[in-house]
Amino acid sequence: MSSSSFDATDLDRLITGIQSWVEIESPTSDTAAVNRMVDRVQADAEPLPIVVERTAGTGGRGDILTLRTRDAGDRPGILILSHLDTVHPIGMLAGPLRFRRDGDKLYGPGIYDMKGGAYLAFAAFAAVASGNNARLPVSFLLTPDEEIGSVTSRDAIEAEAKRARFVLVTEPARDGGKIVTARKGVGRFELTTTGVPAHSGSRHQDGHSAIKEMARQVLAIEGMTDYARGVTTTVGMINGGTAPNVIPQYCHITADLRVREVKTGEEFESKILSLQPADKDVKLTITGGMNRPPFEKTPEIEALLKQAQTVGRAFGLDVKDTEMTGGGSDGNFTAALGVPTLDGLGIDGEGAHTEWEHAYISSIVPRAKLIQGLLETLG
Ligand SMILES: [Zn+2]
Repeated sequence: MSSSSFDATDLDRLITGIQSWVEIESPTSDTAAVNRMVDRVQADAEPLPIVVERTAGTGGRGDILTLRTRDAGDRPGILILSHLDTVHPIGMLAGPLRFRRDGDKLYGPGIYDMKGGAYLAFAAFAAVASGNNARLPVSFLLTPDEEIGSVTSRDAIEAEAKRARFVLVTEPARDGGKIVTARKGVGRFELTTTGVPAHSGSRHQDGHSAIKEMARQVLAIEGMTDYARGVTTTVGMINGGTAPNVIPQYCHITADLRVREVKTGEEFESKILSLQPADKDVKLTITGGMNRPPFEKTPEIEALLKQAQTVGRAFGLDVKDTEMTGGGSDGNFTAALGVPTLDGLGIDGEGAHTEWEHAYISSIVPRAKLIQGLLETLG
């Protein structure tokens, strides 16, 4: 049995819905703002014939919302993952990311990553739940902190994934609507050097510069990049020193590591954690490690992709997957648990995390249909 599927007559309604979510700005660090967004989704969900659970946030982050079809029971089912936080600070909506339509483009903070996709999944979930058309129980987890590594939602994501047969993630589509079946693993590291300060004019010989030592560490870390092995290392932030005429006592960096395989992650994690200072009078402390495990394309994920292709073919959508992408998502956690995961099911567009972030209107109805079709046919 199939419920009526989305068509062109639904487009205006879907755009209005996306707008209502995008116009509630929700940067991860602003807990009250994220919770206003959770309020909105909860209000949209309450009228549906589903079970709504809201869990108070932890660690100073926003709340977690879980929506379930009523037949959920104990059978393993489908888990949909969306995040409600964005990287954009409050004010982007009144500034460069005013919600607006320009040809096929729809602009707004987080519209592409990922409120557009989250809303389409919500609309598909609502249609399937209302028509009682899913073959499996469906749980829909909406989280508050993906953009900073899902520190407070990872446990909930993994607990739900362990009960699921399939996971669908609504991160943005890419490269012309492609979905994602593999992602690199992500490591994050914090390095601090503590040197010996001195007056740069009168006592230069007494000083041991934290910045000079860190410069060596930066080059050592950046030098670990190996494109042939799919390994990249980036020192993305640096901070140190107090004045032009002081040999600096402190320097701090954050480093980012991307790898294709679990073993490579372990190898480079240990390489970074065992870095030593060249100047023995400077102390080097390193914390961190792999944050998201690699999401590798298994035969089960290949089969799930085939299913998505079958669903798409029925209405003329050619579903392709990308090469392994460097960006991590919550799909990394679920794929690493061995649960077949399809990602990049969200809206298509461009400019994630930028002042020109936009979604493609032409992708709205096809993506909603694709998600709905998966919910109705998996199992
Ligand atoms: Zn995202």
